[in-house]
Amino acid sequence: MSHLVHRSLHADPPLALRGEGIYLYDQSGRAIIDGSGGAAVACLGHGHPRVIEAIKAQLDKLAYAHTALFSCESAEELADIMVGHRPGGLTHAYFCSSGSEGNEAAIKMARQYFLEIGQPERTRFIARRQSYHGNTLGALSAGGNAMRRAPYQPLLSPAFSHVSPCYAYRDRAEGESDEQYVARLADELEAEFQRLGPDTVIAFMAETVVGATLGCVTALPGYFPAMKAVCDRHGALLILDEVMSGMGRCGALHTWEQEGVTPDIQIVAKGLGGGYQPIGGILVHGRVIEGLTGGTGAFMHGHTYQAHPVACAAAVAVQKVIAEERLLDNVQAMGARLEQRLTERFGNHRHVGDIRGRGLFWAIELVEDRAGKSVFDPALKLNERVKMQAYERGLACYPMGGTIDGRRGDHAILAPPYIATAAQIDEIVDRFGEAVDAALASL
Ligand code: PMP
Repeated sequence: MSHLVHRSLHADPPLALRGEGIYLYDQSGRAIIDGSGGAAVACLGHGHPRVIEAIKAQLDKLAYAHTALFSCESAEELADIMVGHRPGGLTHAYFCSSGSEGNEAAIKMARQYFLEIGQPERTRFIARRQSYHGNTLGALSAGGNAMRRAPYQPLLSPAFSHVSPCYAYRDRAEGESDEQYVARLADELEAEFQRLGPDTVIAFMAETVVGATLGCVTALPGYFPAMKAVCDRHGALLILDEVMSGMGRCGALHTWEQEGVTPDIQIVAKGLGGGYQPIGGILVHGRVIEGLTGGTGAFMHGHTYQAHPVACAAAVAVQKVIAEERLLDNVQAMGARLEQRLTERFGNHRHVGDIRGRGLFWAIELVEDRAGKSVFDPALKLNERVKMQAYERGLACYPMGGTIDGRRGDHAILAPPYIATAAQIDEIVDRFGEAVDAALASL
């Protein structure tokens, strides 16, 4: 047995030895299609020469300098790339090493903002059930993933409460229109503001497209504007977590661009550095920065490895490749193909209740029966079976499940790299289809 703490302490996972393009190679030399880019991370695929070159060049120049004293060229360049053109009024970027750290930074910056502008009574956050914002205690407090929260409940912050996500497949009532459902969710958020005391709320936090916990659940049109209107009414901020769904994954650089809202703070991570280095961050609206600047003039937060020179150099290279090679066009084109192929393969499948997503971020939800939307017994670990059957067929996908609240079935996410070709998309769906059927047959 290995001495490394793996996700399971019972069995060692296969070794990934090498990566090239959309393929990973394990110790048997087998090529595995990285059909989900890990957890929607490897947006450029593996071994991209330009990114590797940029990392080496940065290491030759400067590996590290402490941010208490220095800035560095790659971090400045990355901030310029991200917010130099002020997308949606976002003017500043802070870089850290993960999505969880990004969420912690967003939470703390939002709190500090209200302290600085003279509203210290704002101490509460409203987030959503069936959401995931990270595994550190602040981010886990924000998250509404019951299974992940349960063991740590006594350690989680009571400053966070949760409302329903926009999950039309399961939560829209019989005969309810999109507009009525959105209005009901806005009413629920309004009621939560009232319950807490509207002047005590710092922010509403949500994943723009729900990633791992529900599986690529997009909001209905009008949902985010309706939620933002509630926040605006009460002077609270909107924090959008695009760790998984952003940085081009859904076909636009920022997924909020597709929703008709701009966040006050946005969290980014996975597609920012594409897995070449650990990097996450927050993008911050000018008005929040003004609030901080007018107060103590410092963000009372930080990490040893924030704005790390090598991580930022990798992210600069990743973002330049995405822009210069116009990869978001490919995300849109291949995303349409992925949707079409998944619909052909699973549209009439008796155990596929929902096929959903956007761009190159798609999931199927597996149910015992389509009409009743009943879920498989979590003890069957269907999502694990899908993962193993896919791996046997040379495909890495990202299945989740083991529902404990009965409100969602097992699901599996596909999130191919932005460089995927039509033939590769077809191959991914073929292998995935076989894996899902084999997993179901094994029950
Ligand atoms: N937010 C979202 C939406 C995520 O999907 C994740 C990771 N799956 C995180 C935050 C946490 O990111 P990390 O694992 O890099 O800490």
